[in-house]
Amino acid sequence: MKMDVLALFPEIIAPALQTGILKRIQDDGGLSVNVYNLRDWTTDKHKTVDDYPYGGGAGMILKPEPIFAAAETLNAESDAQFIFLTPQGIPLTQPMVEALSLETHLILICGRYKGVDERVREKIVTKEISIGDYVLSGGEIAALVILDAIARVLPGALGDFESAHEDSFSKDLLDHPHYTRPADYEGLKVPEVLLSGHHDNIKKWRYVEALKRTAQRRPDLLKELELTDEELAIVNKAK
Ligand code: SAM
Repeated sequence: MKMDVLALFPEIIAPALQTGILKRIQDDGGLSVNVYNLRDWTTDKHKTVDDYPYGGGAGMILKPEPIFAAAETLNAESDAQFIFLTPQGIPLTQPMVEALSLETHLILICGRYKGVDERVREKIVTKEISIGDYVLSGGEIAALVILDAIARVLPGALGDFESAHEDSFSKDLLDHPHYTRPADYEGLKVPEVLLSGHHDNIKKWRYVEALKRTAQRRPDLLKELELTDEELAIVNKAK
């Protein structure tokens, strides 16, 4: 998979690409990431990327020409999805991340200031994504969120691929609690069942805890699930 990022501040993204799963999956050839500076597609000596808004008002707008020029260069094979990061986009979810991870080429466009000239969205953007209902100063961090979330679901990204499927949201439930050694920390004990070595019981305990946790913290997620009477009883007790 190939991911290109078009940004005014690539230096925000670059260090994260050299760390952890993002680095490993690139080294292994599962993902190729390039971060480009929008100024590289300007034609004036000041490398101008923004301009005043028509109609007046505060704030600057990213000019269309450098973005169109970059899009033409980066999408030479014309198979890319152009994603614009914006608080007005569809809120990012784990199913969206998994669907995006199946694409061959994503180009992420990071806005700055008041945003981009609307014609960029009309002409080349194929999907608009928000990472939450708040406003960041630029799209770079949002692009990094998408890069990281996609990288970890790509085949071979995690040593134990199963673990990605047990994370929150992957089964429409939040993750169950986790413990590591010591079994007793100043009187705070790890649940007995986890020490038992009985795999079926451990699996059941984890599922029940995930149900309870979801009922308590994100009951909205349960609305989509068809729960058995036994599961409903657990949920109702946990609320
Ligand atoms: N005027 C824009 C609006 O109200 O929709 C906000 C512009 S914001 C200050 C600058 C840039 O940050 C946006 O163009 C976008 O690329 C990025 N951004 C801000 N919040 C975001 C969010 N929640 N999700 C994704 N991108 C975001």
